[in-house]
Amino acid sequence: MPAQLLDGNALARQIRSELTTEVAEFIENNGVVPALAAVLVGGDPASQVYVRNKRRDCEEVGINSTLHRLPETTTQDELLNLIARLNRDDAIHGILVQLPLPPQIDSRAILEAVSPNKDVDAFHPENVGLVVQGQPRFLPCTPAAVQQILVRNNVSIAGQHVVVVGRSDIVGKPLAIMLAQRGPGADATVTLCHSRTPDLGAFTRQADILVAAIGKPKFITADMIRPGATVIDVGINRTDAGLVGDVDFEAILPVASRITPVPGGIGPLTRVMLLVNTLTAARQLEM
Ligand code: NDP
Repeated sequence: MPAQLLDGNALARQIRSELTTEVAEFIENNGVVPALAAVLVGGDPASQVYVRNKRRDCEEVGINSTLHRLPETTTQDELLNLIARLNRDDAIHGILVQLPLPPQIDSRAILEAVSPNKDVDAFHPENVGLVVQGQPRFLPCTPAAVQQILVRNNVSIAGQHVVVVGRSDIVGKPLAIMLAQRGPGADATVTLCHSRTPDLGAFTRQADILVAAIGKPKFITADMIRPGATVIDVGINRTDAGLVGDVDFEAILPVASRITPVPGGIGPLTRVMLLVNTLTAARQLEM
């Protein structure tokens, strides 16, 4: 029997509909509309599309969004000034600085300048630290999307062996930490693999749940999957054949028990998590 598809689009729709109700309740109780400020520096076409989609998502669930467009030549001080202004603005609950930033700007300094209370991407060191300590203020969006697709499809995580391939600061590393925490949606035994892991297949074949966050099209092949495993494909690779994940979907379909498609898997859910974090920020700031 082919693997069950874990449908990220359907789950994203469901969570957006839950959020629409929660946002309306929040507005009724507080007299304030949750608001996200998006900051876009320069004209990178992919970044423009991402920001446009994120703002459309906000609109759909009733969150206000404002866009701050700055020219490619913006200096670090100019951007820091804008962030300081947004940090002070009581009408703004979440701040999103779209990456990548132009080379004259130090991204780390910018991400550290965003108030941790408005840091809906959860990139600020304080928020990373809280995640590591198991006391998150916000969960990073892509790892949260992976956790939600497992939890909401009743895939057991506790006691399972999760193998994460990829150790980036925005995906693999925080995900490995989150799934190894004590508590619901976690309690896994986690192995974190990367480009210096010898004989990767020897690790991936032990996975009850395999997460690929590598950035190489179809890198994970069918012989690397334990029959019956759950396979989560975070990868988004633009190829001549269109968007392709990090796993060889067609070949793995008959081997795995569950698998996420690309597109339509983790991508749409990642977008929803930004909305979840914006509502969380609004709740915390308006308490
Ligand atoms: P990075 O490039 O930051 O990290 C890639 C990781 O993969 C690194 O840890 C790297 O190891 C590891 N890796 C590379 N080659 C190999 C190899 N041959 N064997 C084992 N491990 C390897 O990528 P990101 O984490 O930012 O993104 C990963 C993928 O997920 C990309 O396709 C990206 O587009 C996608 N993505 C999707 C999102 C979504 O919303 N669905 C959101 C964010 C990312 P090392 O550390 O040793 O270099």
